[in-house]
Amino acid sequence: MNAGELLSLCKRRGFIWPSFEIYGGVAGMYDYGPLGTNLKDNIISLWRKAYRQGEGFVEIDSETVNPEPVFKASGHIDEFSDFVVYCLGCKEPFRADHLVGDLHPNPDTLSADELKSLFVENGVQCPDCEGDLGDVEEFNLMFKTNIGPGSSRAGYLRPETAQGIFVNFPHLYRYNREKLPLGVIQHGRGYRNEISPRQGMIRLREFNMMEVELFVDPDDKTWPRYDRVKGRDLRLIPEDGSERTLTLEEAVAQGIIANEVLAYFIWVTKRLLEDLGVDCSKLRFRQHLKDEMAHYAMDCWDAEVLLSYGWTEVVGIADRGCWDLSQHSKWSKQEMTHFKRFDEPREVERTVLKAKYRQLGPLFKGDAKEIASMIEACGPQDIKDGEILLEFKGEVIPISSDLFEVVDVREKVSGEKVVPHVIEPSHGLDRIFYTILEHAYRREDDYTVLSLKPQVAPIKVGVFPLMSRDGLDAKALQVYDLLSEEGIEAYYDDSGSIGKRYARMDEVGTPWCVTVDYETLEDERGLQDTVTVRDRDSSEQRRIPIPELVNVVKELLKGRDFASL
Ligand code: AMP
Repeated sequence: MNAGELLSLCKRRGFIWPSFEIYGGVAGMYDYGPLGTNLKDNIISLWRKAYRQGEGFVEIDSETVNPEPVFKASGHIDEFSDFVVYCLGCKEPFRADHLVGDLHPNPDTLSADELKSLFVENGVQCPDCEGDLGDVEEFNLMFKTNIGPGSSRAGYLRPETAQGIFVNFPHLYRYNREKLPLGVIQHGRGYRNEISPRQGMIRLREFNMMEVELFVDPDDKTWPRYDRVKGRDLRLIPEDGSERTLTLEEAVAQGIIANEVLAYFIWVTKRLLEDLGVDCSKLRFRQHLKDEMAHYAMDCWDAEVLLSYGWTEVVGIADRGCWDLSQHSKWSKQEMTHFKRFDEPREVERTVLKAKYRQLGPLFKGDAKEIASMIEACGPQDIKDGEILLEFKGEVIPISSDLFEVVDVREKVSGEKVVPHVIEPSHGLDRIFYTILEHAYRREDDYTVLSLKPQVAPIKVGVFPLMSRDGLDAKALQVYDLLSEEGIEAYYDDSGSIGKRYARMDEVGTPWCVTVDYETLEDERGLQDTVTVRDRDSSEQRRIPIPELVNVVKELLKGRDFASL
């Protein structure tokens, strides 16, 4: 199948539209039309159900514009960039690694110099005009803005929703009664100023993410429900590049997947994608190479799907270690730890700093007490060249070694503070949306069917009067109201032949169509009051009494087989 064919269906039927089309459009930007919005919401609902109801995670909704320190701490300001190269002829920008896809197995691991050498050695030229290429430059992918008037407070549109969860860790931890594991989900927009997006919905500049951040004890990367699924298969491409199918248990035992939690959430990702309608024969999990891994990741697996564009990442599942919380703690000076209680209190020896109050008093007067407690919050590791540096009231104050002493103490402790580790399945909603459509798309003899799973289909039931007269239309509208009142997305259509109406519904993936015909009215007199229900995939039909219709549709949505009706 070709992506252009599907994208034109999406545009014609109101799934997605290129944004700002009346002004010529902007690459990498799409709007969701009415059917697309429904489908997108249904994907979010199933994802939410998997994590909130399935795993007991909580959901939050944080800001999309963040102040600069958030991304200084997260590393995005320094690290979140791609290499750009401009054509010297037509001036078009290109993502440098995308121009050498045929020349290197992993171009996104290359440095600017390595990319430049590859261009020169292979005579790579502009793919649009065959002009010469200029220098390879680093380009940060974040959109910058100002918060408030003037340029005093820099802000950025978030490139991922995850940071909104990390900066709220202290609140979330308290909300969870200071316990781990703590699972938090968030969906919303992410913004990346992609260099040259050319693949429909795959590479967007403003996109939708469904992110999951699971905070765990770094010494306990196990999961209670792991045992239930450890015998299931995963199609894996580990770092060495050799594809194999292993059970979760085998993959963990062989050290291929780093731990049980990561393995479990790779499995949850597979099950969710399958439930959403991704064809599992076109799904695999690929481990990142060490030099491909994002700056924050200890281990990372991509769920990749086979599309007309080739294998494409739709979900990234990373073990982010303690990177995010440690960084935010360092930059915000706020505690981001979990207090891990020991089974029994333990006696430990520690080396601590004790402030010399007598000397501090005359030097710092009214501030002496505060300075003393800041000294005692430091440890021996903070002593550099015989002094420690304290940040106090906006100034850096050197504290020389005659103002404190270093002493060994023995004390009983009931636990220790640890920085939680984070396991993150991060879902690209738009890519999943597109995958579901592409994997559901069938076209034969000019007839198109989207075999969407009923739970994600934007319209669940098409409702038609056989004719728009003789009271059939009024009755069909009653049926439409009945379904709508029960929250079942229905679509009323009375134009054209029944065959055309079925075709219109098949093309947008509606699983069932209900027709009100003359028999309905006759039945009405005979207290039967039935309609025909037609199944999209088998084209089978059943007569169902109207009073039972809502329940029948609800059962079908829960997975009941149409043939069993
Ligand atoms: P990442 O944080 O880069 O692992 O991204 C998480 C997920 O977001 C990926 O697995 C993709 O599905 C999706 N994604 C990343 N960048 C884009 C983009 N520019 N357009 C659409 N989806 C994206």
